[in-house]
Amino acid sequence: MSRSPLTASAILLFSIPVLAQSPQAVQIRIDLTDAPRRIIHVTEQLPVHPGDNVFCYPKWIPGRERADGPIDNLTGIFFRAANSQGAPIAWRQDLEDPYKIHVSIPSRVSSLTASFDLLGAPSHAQPAEKNHTSSHVVMVEPSDVVLYPLDKPVHDTQITATIHLPANWKAATALRTAGSDAPSLNGPDTTFKTVSIEKFVDSPILAGDHCRQYPLAPEIRPVHTLDVCTEKEADLTLHPAFLAKMTALVQQATKVFAGHHYDHYDFLVAASPHLSGDSTEHTESADYVVSSVDTSNPLTSDNLAYLLPHEYTHSWCGKYRRPAGMATPDYNTPMRTDLIWVYEGLTQYYGNVLAARAGFRTPADTVSALDFEAFQIDRPGRRWRSVQGTADASAILRSGDVVWSNWRLDQDYYLAGTLLWLEADVKIRQLTHGAKSLDDFAALFFSPPIPGSSSRDTGPGILPYTFADLVQALNATAPYDWTSFWNTRLNALDFKLLTRGLEAGGYDYVYQDTMIPSEGDYIKAAHMAEMYHSLGFQAMPDGTLQDVWMDSPAYIAGLGPGDKLTAVDGKPYSAEVLTYAVHESKTNTGPINLTASRYGESQTFTLQYHGGEKYAALVRNNNPDLLTTAILKPRSSNQNKEQ
Ligand SMILES: [Zn+2]
Repeated sequence: MSRSPLTASAILLFSIPVLAQSPQAVQIRIDLTDAPRRIIHVTEQLPVHPGDNVFCYPKWIPGRERADGPIDNLTGIFFRAANSQGAPIAWRQDLEDPYKIHVSIPSRVSSLTASFDLLGAPSHAQPAEKNHTSSHVVMVEPSDVVLYPLDKPVHDTQITATIHLPANWKAATALRTAGSDAPSLNGPDTTFKTVSIEKFVDSPILAGDHCRQYPLAPEIRPVHTLDVCTEKEADLTLHPAFLAKMTALVQQATKVFAGHHYDHYDFLVAASPHLSGDSTEHTESADYVVSSVDTSNPLTSDNLAYLLPHEYTHSWCGKYRRPAGMATPDYNTPMRTDLIWVYEGLTQYYGNVLAARAGFRTPADTVSALDFEAFQIDRPGRRWRSVQGTADASAILRSGDVVWSNWRLDQDYYLAGTLLWLEADVKIRQLTHGAKSLDDFAALFFSPPIPGSSSRDTGPGILPYTFADLVQALNATAPYDWTSFWNTRLNALDFKLLTRGLEAGGYDYVYQDTMIPSEGDYIKAAHMAEMYHSLGFQAMPDGTLQDVWMDSPAYIAGLGPGDKLTAVDGKPYSAEVLTYAVHESKTNTGPINLTASRYGESQTFTLQYHGGEKYAALVRNNNPDLLTTAILKPRSSNQNKEQ
């Protein structure tokens, strides 16, 4: 069906419910009828004043920490006096900031109707194959579909949202309908309770025609719900073992964080082979856009075993307790990300810990995952860019481009954060002779005791923190020079300073001539060649080099990312032939000659290397194995120790 935006906006003008109880609230109607063909129609009613009014499209999206709101998808924009079909009111995009739109309002107009279309539905400006929409499932990020007035913080501006769905579709969200606080699958045309723009943008909407809800951990209040939408009805029946792990996740997180900062929590899962890996944290929900509800492969990036505990942890670490520089009044004020090594790093750590404690991963698999995480940030760029440096530059380091990434570095604060918070955990256990752990800090910092109350639940909100606040809470848990602890490690230009927690927890990070089994199985099945710590590259099955490490034998020989290996010492290239040549290099006196194609031209590169196979691995040392015997063990006690 083809349609013109003008026709649609004229129809929608009459569909917006006029809600008398919130005359100043923004009203928004999100029409998902055409979402399967990747276009969302939106109508908003906005309060205005005479003269220049500025409306913003979100630029700094919470959870993305960079200025990349998909403004290029905002199209078909018309402004009119509310409840009028008169001529559109003229508007202009700001010349310095295209995320701001100026509308000059005549004196007789007190309310404005904006209608527009969002293309890509919604894509977060990712490649076309990474989408949030299929014919049966859609995940709507409200930040993608809202214009908001700039005259007040988003916390102080109210919005009433209505969602219009295709026939027979249902929606699930942390937003609740008027008159009901129960989670529900809402029908085709639903108006939600009036909330702040802040809460609206923090509440993604999952919709589809095959959806089901599963209550989790029924003994715990607030209520926790798993909401799933899939391509077909048969995929909605989840395995009881998976649901048991979900319940354990809620129970174990509740034990660690001691209180909740939401009125209810929804895990929103859109699962379809037509969708691909993306997830975002929110205060009262998290959205997971995944190809399937599958937790079997620990190395798959969209694997729920990794994503579920991580995004859930963010409800405390990042949403309720938020670095002061990231607690901005609106989505167009730049974020300062110097403490993102807490926001993402501590979340990454507890994501790993809770995945093990909830049973999504065995302790042994978690040790393998930690080895893989350490391996990914053990690379040459550490010589010039510290972990703090990656945090400060976070907004420009989130592209994920692999070419020369070993030298640029990217979001190292996630995985370095895991290792450093592990060290902090072990340090607290040592300082207190096992009486306390990082869990005690987590309870104190993320859910401070409330005077006169036995509960630490607060409902949703934001409690910003500084580095000094963090140090204070660590000192209250176990007195130590925590300022130096963090400064030394965060500013180090030496990877070795990041692995001390592993060592103190029972595992040395070493280089050995065999891969750990999980990595070896993965690399072998993928027909890749993993040579970063020997020759200085990883090769895809067809021989294409993904990245070439700075100053490695391959770099010195002249190889670069994108070069495609065709022969090894004159024999046709395969991962096995290359691995054999590297293995033999220890005893061979000659170099390894690699023939590669660069832009279609064949060249031969001579690598002087005699170190044999070399892979990063975690091996048990003589220290007690705190990781698997203590840290990763499920907690049985509900009681956090006295602060
Ligand atoms: Zn995260």
